[in-house]
Amino acid sequence: MKVLIYPHEILKKVSEPVRNIDGALQRFIDDMIKTMYEAEGVGLAANQVGEPIQVIVFDCETDDKRGKHPMVLLNPRIVEAVGEMVGEEGCLSVPGYGAKIRRAESILVKAFDREGREVEIEAQGGLLSKCLQHEIDHLNGICFVDRLSPVKKTLFKKKWAKIRPKDE
Ligand code: ZN
Repeated sequence: MKVLIYPHEILKKVSEPVRNIDGALQRFIDDMIKTMYEAEGVGLAANQVGEPIQVIVFDCETDDKRGKHPMVLLNPRIVEAVGEMVGEEGCLSVPGYGAKIRRAESILVKAFDREGREVEIEAQGGLLSKCLQHEIDHLNGICFVDRLSPVKKTLFKKKWAKIRPKDE
C-alpha cells in the first residue's frame, strides 16, 4: 500500500461509514496495519491509503518490549471532549514535517471493532488521545496541518514546497 501525500484530493474527502464487514475488509485492515508499521507510524486512516471509508488503525504502545498492539476502529466518533492540550504531531502523509497542535485533552470515542462489536475508548491526555483525534480528523478530511494558524500554515506551505516528495 502506498501512503498518499498531502495535499492529495482523497485526504480532503469526508470518508463513508463502513457498512459491510467481510473478508475483503479484513484483508484491507491487515494491509493497513502492515503499512503503518513499515512506515513506523503510530496511526493510519484508510483515506491515507486511498480508500475513503471510516477505518483507522493505530498502536500507541511505545514500549518495544511489550510487542505490537495494533488497534482497529470502524466508524469512530468523538462523543465527549474535555480540556485542552498542545503536543507535537507528525503525519505519514506529511513526511519530514512536525508541528505543535492544540487538541482536547480527554476524549470519549465510540466506534466498532473489526468484528463489528461496539466499543468505547476513553483517552485522558497523552499519545492515545492525540493519535485518536488526529486519525478521526483524517476521516473528516482534515490533516493536522489544516489546524495550523494562518501564519504557520503559510510558513508550512513554503517549507512543504521544498521538502515534499517529488514523485507524487
Ligand atoms: Zn496523519
